[in-house]
Amino acid sequence: MNFGRVQPKEHRLEPESNPFDDYRDTDRDPLVRIFDDYGRPDLHWFGVGLLASLLSRLVSLVPPLVLGIAIDSVFTPGGPAYSLPLVPASWVPSATTDLVVLSAGLVLAAFALGVVFSWVQGVGLSLFSNRVQHAVRTDTYALMQRLDMAFFDDKQTGQVMSVLNNDVRNLRTFLDNTLSGAIQLVVTVVGIAGILFYLNWQLALVTLVAVPLLTVFTLRFMTTIRPLYRALRSSVGALNTRLENNLSGIEVIKTSNTETYEEARVTEASRDYYDRTWAVVKLEYLYQPSMELLAGVAFAATFVIGGLWLVSGPPLFFTGELYVGEFVTFLFMTQRFIDPLAGAGRIVNAYENARASGERIFGLSALPVTVADAEDAVVLDDVRGTVEYDSVDFSYANGVPVLHDVSFAVEPGQTVALVGPTGAGKSTAAKLLLRLYDVSDGSVTLDGVDVRHLALDSLRSAVGYVSQDVYLFDGTVRENLVYGAFDATEAEMVAAAEAAEAHEFVENLPDGYDTRIGERGVKLSGGQRQRISLARAMLQDPAVLVLDEATSAVDTETELYIQRALARLTEGRTTVVIAHRLSTVRHADQILVLDGGRVVERGTHDELLALDGLYATLWNVQAGALDEADADILDALEARDRDALKTG
Ligand code: ADP
Repeated sequence: MNFGRVQPKEHRLEPESNPFDDYRDTDRDPLVRIFDDYGRPDLHWFGVGLLASLLSRLVSLVPPLVLGIAIDSVFTPGGPAYSLPLVPASWVPSATTDLVVLSAGLVLAAFALGVVFSWVQGVGLSLFSNRVQHAVRTDTYALMQRLDMAFFDDKQTGQVMSVLNNDVRNLRTFLDNTLSGAIQLVVTVVGIAGILFYLNWQLALVTLVAVPLLTVFTLRFMTTIRPLYRALRSSVGALNTRLENNLSGIEVIKTSNTETYEEARVTEASRDYYDRTWAVVKLEYLYQPSMELLAGVAFAATFVIGGLWLVSGPPLFFTGELYVGEFVTFLFMTQRFIDPLAGAGRIVNAYENARASGERIFGLSALPVTVADAEDAVVLDDVRGTVEYDSVDFSYANGVPVLHDVSFAVEPGQTVALVGPTGAGKSTAAKLLLRLYDVSDGSVTLDGVDVRHLALDSLRSAVGYVSQDVYLFDGTVRENLVYGAFDATEAEMVAAAEAAEAHEFVENLPDGYDTRIGERGVKLSGGQRQRISLARAMLQDPAVLVLDEATSAVDTETELYIQRALARLTEGRTTVVIAHRLSTVRHADQILVLDGGRVVERGTHDELLALDGLYATLWNVQAGALDEADADILDALEARDRDALKTG
């Protein structure tokens, strides 16, 4: 078999760890839980569907029954009188032709009713399963959104997508056909077994011998296939993750010239998926025909014993009389008994498949969430903007310490700048203020209240975050601007855009504020995106601002725009700025120099230069000279602007 250009056997890559294998809830049968948690509001639709499906089964029994009676009573001279179960004898006509018409009419009516019941069954069960699917998906999405940031650091987005899409859809298929099929099967099998016993209990025993055999065989199959399905669902997610990561990183793949490497990785993930699917399919194809074979043997045994009985009287230890019509009915019924039994394999199979999906869905929602509202969470009404870090220690989930004993305080309206080499912990420190993560030790307080005691809503509307990699949603400029401040008026939006120096370039876009940007729209430059995000922050108007400054350089004119926008944005707001270019923090009230997660120096620009430590080194050696030149130009331009404003 050819799996593409790259042969996986020779290019075996290290198997990737998959945290999703641990996110699995196996405590309670997930399908019972689905019913319990999500099925209740629409249970009536399930009831309607199930009832219709049972009725359609029931009416399907009428033709063989009527046929058997007709053969014995109408077509066989000297046979028993024409009598229908549950129908009074006085309703049955006596003329033979009338009996033929009656029989045909009954068969036709049964078929017609069968069609109606099937239709009702389809509608009822589809409504039920689609509604449950919708509820499970939206609920799981909402839960997923509340998971800790640490969860998303694993970058298993493909797995999450696969749970929300494939696994939820898998459940729907199960609820749609399989569940009602299973109930129908049990009712049919038990019901028909009763009829078989009623018709001829001795022959019925011959047919029913197959049942315990099929049951044992099926139970064995279920326990064998369960782990295989779990592995299969995981590999669907792993493949999705790989594809999703590669699509997001396509620029890096192209520029690093790693297409062949990535092809090998995708081939590997796809190969894994193939292997696991094949393991399931192999078992299925062993099981399903075996079930059919067993069922066939049971049918043949019934036919042989019954046939011999008709031809030469009761064989072996059997006793009594058997009529042809009775035997025909018996054989038809046996067929209706055997077929669903043989089909039980498909149901069991679908059940195991859905069960593996259910475990993943509930596994996701069972993940512990640590960053959540405390029970007595405080809502801040009027935020002044005092921020204080007190002896903060922090490490990410991997346990490596990132911050040690970080302490500082910012008064309302002041600006504190975090500077230091890459990896020093600046962004991490800032994220703690937004409570994207919880501190490991110490505390972060806003207006004197520990952020862990603040309602998340309240905290995140008080603290704005302007990140360096601006994420624009697929939509119009307007939609992106008012994101998070949805009730802003047109005038407020334009004012914010003007303050962020974005109004002018937005007006020049093909459709102005209604221009589509983001994934499927106009692509904006880095500087334009930054100004959109500044305008967004202006509209949200938070008391405290966390500013993760852009590293990517923009031309001096754009820089000027951005600096002016920033000056307006930070005016009167407590600001924590993560500075990558020192020129922008010269005017900060306080500068903290972080190195290896510790505050190594603190003070104003001039104090730190005088200290002649790490800051001074960064300033002088790394970028100082250049930045100073840039800064001087900016100062000059700003001064010219101010003069222009005064004279204008
Ligand atoms: P800076 O902003 O100063 O460049 P960061 O705060 O981004 O530094 O990173 C500080 C340290 O924490 C680095 O060693 C980085 O590798 C680590 N780190 C950052 N984010 C995560 C994360 N999500 N999970 C684990 N480690 C992280």
